[in-house]
Amino acid sequence: MAIATLLPATTAFIQRAPRMLIGAEWVEAADGQTMPLHNPATGEQLCVVPRATVDDVDRAVLAARQAFDDSPWSRTRPRERQNLLWKLADLIQRDAELLAQLECLNNGKSAAVAQAMDVQLAIDFLRYMAGWATKIEGSSVEVSVPLMPDQQFHSFIRREAVGVVGAIVAWNFPLLLACWKLGPALATGCTVVLKPADETPLTALKLAELVQEAGYPDGVFNVVTGTGITAGAALTHNPRVDKLTFTGSTAVGKEIGKIAMDNMTRVTLELGGKSPTIVMADADLGSAAAGAASAIFFNQGQVCCAGSRLYVQRKHFDNVVADIAGIANAMKLGSGLDTSVDMGPLISARQQERVWRYIEMGRDSGATLACGGERFGPGYFVKPTVIVDVDQQHSLVQEEIFGPVLVAIPFDDEADALRLANDSPYGLGASIWSNDLAAVHRMIPRIKSGSVWVNCHSALDPALPFGGYKMSGVGREMGYAAIEHYTELKSVLIKL
Ligand code: NAD
Repeated sequence: MAIATLLPATTAFIQRAPRMLIGAEWVEAADGQTMPLHNPATGEQLCVVPRATVDDVDRAVLAARQAFDDSPWSRTRPRERQNLLWKLADLIQRDAELLAQLECLNNGKSAAVAQAMDVQLAIDFLRYMAGWATKIEGSSVEVSVPLMPDQQFHSFIRREAVGVVGAIVAWNFPLLLACWKLGPALATGCTVVLKPADETPLTALKLAELVQEAGYPDGVFNVVTGTGITAGAALTHNPRVDKLTFTGSTAVGKEIGKIAMDNMTRVTLELGGKSPTIVMADADLGSAAAGAASAIFFNQGQVCCAGSRLYVQRKHFDNVVADIAGIANAMKLGSGLDTSVDMGPLISARQQERVWRYIEMGRDSGATLACGGERFGPGYFVKPTVIVDVDQQHSLVQEEIFGPVLVAIPFDDEADALRLANDSPYGLGASIWSNDLAAVHRMIPRIKSGSVWVNCHSALDPALPFGGYKMSGVGREMGYAAIEHYTELKSVLIKL
């Protein structure tokens, strides 16, 4: 067992009870209220952070509004925005270990994995978005204007920053999700108020320090820590916000979408998932089983596009399930600071209880547990679990559990696999494990999801748009699609 040593900077950051950034100031909540954060591996309190009031959120939005409307930021040239984003990415790289340790202590995930994945993907994404800052284009158009036949015109279309962005994110990838919002916002010239998840604000607060250090003007990036019900709702309702971008559950996303429509606030929603992993009979079954295990158990199954439904062609079903159960049984659970550990705790006692309720529901309805089905403490651990003998219409198959629980169902042929894969309210991702090129190409267009992976799962790249069909959301993160969501089009017609 090798336990990573905490950096002095990590301990110091936590001990000084970090405050929120509003405009140029690091502040407590207006009424002095705080909320405790816990280490999910032990259940112990880590520190407290401010519990923002509605007034705090309004002040943060005002700071972002002023920074967008009349500060030097509103006149920055694309090259400056590109260079600032590169600087920010460099600072994140410099503090990668610190950020990964904060993520580990606050979220429970492995510090080593957080550094290699969460932090590195955030850096790569910001650098990718820095490239777009200098490539945002409008177009010129030859117009006719039939009502003014004798006139000459010059006409063009501008692509302009959408304005003040209200960003609300979930707790499963705290830093990375924040950067998915921040990258396109800063590349296009927007300003941002970020509301991190109640449970995991620490890396967002560290990110705010780095944004200041990079040299962004005051008010360009603000972070308010607090609850969804107060701070999140205040941000959602604030009419000075031009665009809302949300990553979280479908239930909350639907509410935010409705409120956004009342104010005509632009909105993108990255929501839940119940993504299928489809193993065809011709697949390399060893890598399919390993891939399917990683698709569900990575990040303790707390991944929006986790492969949480497994469909295997009938003749190989028992073998593939047995292989995955073998992988699950060999996984070592423990603190994310222990480098020999394969799986950490869930985010909270509440999430542990939620996942547990689904496992019990499976047992009660006569499903079979191929492995797992145990929980233990004092942290919030649930053993990786595979459930078989379960009907496609069961809540275990239709609802997002958001934990290390895989449901597995056999299928007979390609049409059957497609029918089962698409029989879900969600449509975020799907993977097909097969070497039959023709079958794969027949299936890809027929799968109703925003991403399809072949012989891999949850493989993301900054250049590839990511988002959902159906109840998995509206709009896309990453790629040029993100730039489109952070800009408005303005048509200009000049009579000559
Ligand atoms: P959640 O919806 O409970 O909370 C997400 C965020 O919304 C938090 O910051 C929370 O404080 C805030 N919030 C809660 N109620 C609010 C309200 N009434 N008004 C405004 N804000 C409010 O989700 P969660 O449990 O934190 O995260 C898990 C969910 O996130 C899962 O469904 C998962 O699939 C989804 N997710 C989706 C993606 C994606 O890209 N599609 C990525 C990560 C997570």
